[in-house]
Amino acid sequence: MNTTNDPSFTCPACHAEIPQAGTDKVASCPQCGFALTAQAQESVKADQQMMRRSHWIWFWLFFLGTPASALVLLSANMVTLAPVVVVAGVLLAGFQLAKLFSKTTAGYIVMGILFSGCLFVVYVGVVFVGCAIAMQGQHF
Ligand SMILES: [Zn+2]
Repeated sequence: MNTTNDPSFTCPACHAEIPQAGTDKVASCPQCGFALTAQAQESVKADQQMMRRSHWIWFWLFFLGTPASALVLLSANMVTLAPVVVVAGVLLAGFQLAKLFSKTTAGYIVMGILFSGCLFVVYVGVVFVGCAIAMQGQHF
């Protein structure tokens, strides 16, 4: 099992690591030109699907886990830790999304920051709506 973060495939001829980031199919080894078999390409594809699935799972874990852990910290009177957890969770979730959609390292960093910003806005919006509902409830 490949446990590293980047899906890669080892060439059967020269044992060079062939990076698979953002590619659907690799017809031949860029190192030695060895034609990769359909089976090898299938295993690469399956690896990529596994990677995508695990990135989605991690994204949802961070996305849902962040407000949950922030609430736990707040209720435990660890108010100073809550923002740290939110920022860390937003960055972790944002960069998981970036891994799914980016094809280059530069794109990964830019998208990671953008997605993190968007997720933060989503959290702020949820808190804002939640507060508005809570305050309206007090009028009645
Ligand atoms: Zn090769």
